[in-house]
Amino acid sequence: MGLENIDGEVYFPRPAGAKISRTSLVITLCAILGLLGSLMLTMTENYNSVQQSATAITANTPELATTNTTSPTTSTTSLTNKATPAATKSSQMNLQSPILPFPTLLWEQIAVLQSHNRFLYTGNRYLPKIALTFDDGPNPYYTPQVLAVLQRYGVKATFFCIGRQVASYPDLVKQEYADGNLVGNHSWSHPNLALLSSDEIDSQINLTSNAIQQVIGVRPTLFRPPYGVVNARVLSKANLLGLTTIIWGDEARDWTTPGTSVIVSRILSLAGDGAIILMHDGGGDRSQTVAALPTIITTLRLRGYQFVTLQQMLKDLPKRPASTQAPIFVPTTIPSASPAASPGP
Ligand code: ZN
Repeated sequence: MGLENIDGEVYFPRPAGAKISRTSLVITLCAILGLLGSLMLTMTENYNSVQQSATAITANTPELATTNTTSPTTSTTSLTNKATPAATKSSQMNLQSPILPFPTLLWEQIAVLQSHNRFLYTGNRYLPKIALTFDDGPNPYYTPQVLAVLQRYGVKATFFCIGRQVASYPDLVKQEYADGNLVGNHSWSHPNLALLSSDEIDSQINLTSNAIQQVIGVRPTLFRPPYGVVNARVLSKANLLGLTTIIWGDEARDWTTPGTSVIVSRILSLAGDGAIILMHDGGGDRSQTVAALPTIITTLRLRGYQFVTLQQMLKDLPKRPASTQAPIFVPTTIPSASPAASPGP
């Protein structure tokens, strides 16, 4: 269902290959759909279900299934989380101050966060830079292989780690960071956060940030919600915690293990200026991802792209984000929640 879904489970991937440079189309679509979205959310609020509004924003459709909508409804207005201490020394970024006042409606939240470069699904679409991101690790078998390839080619990437994996394999996270990569927060156990209460979301994020900080000495500033699913509670929490929410623009759906050549060709066809590419170093058999990496890196370099961490990508964004940062909203279904170790974004 799309915007009419009063259960509020909405999923807005960007169609594969869509060009963000079509500024007028984007502005028109966003204006219309933003209006409809606000209307929808206002209506759902009347049903006392605005807290159930969930959005997953991806380029392509990840593993899809209908999510049950019997989620707990904890009021976002009751959020009282204290800001976490900012990292004092870091090659990572500092945590941001919460944006206050912060809207309660999801679409307004996204708009406000985007205006502060705090919610991204792409970097600067006018610079030939690409951010490789690896989710669901660290994994004792595949993460070292990914790190070896990155080192061999001198590429810095960003790892969105699952908290309990960090606790199990701290040395891998240390190595990720020591190699010059960025380490981000991908929740503690990879649930669909939109189905959780505010307190549960808080635990998922803070436990993970604590674990990462314990290992590398700095608190992560980047947050990627599992499955790319957010709702008003999730974004309220991310805002209060000073986190920047990173979705993605292009993904190879490597978790479906479609074959190395398919992963390569998907990424090569989708990659473009400012692309944030989603891959996985954990959650399943990632041998195809590892095998695809050298060709991806060498080919995209030949095409003139530079690989950067999300930290660099954020620095490259305009101070006042243009409308080109807004996603093209194309409703579809929402991915189902699944256990942490299961494949999926
Ligand atoms: Zn994931």
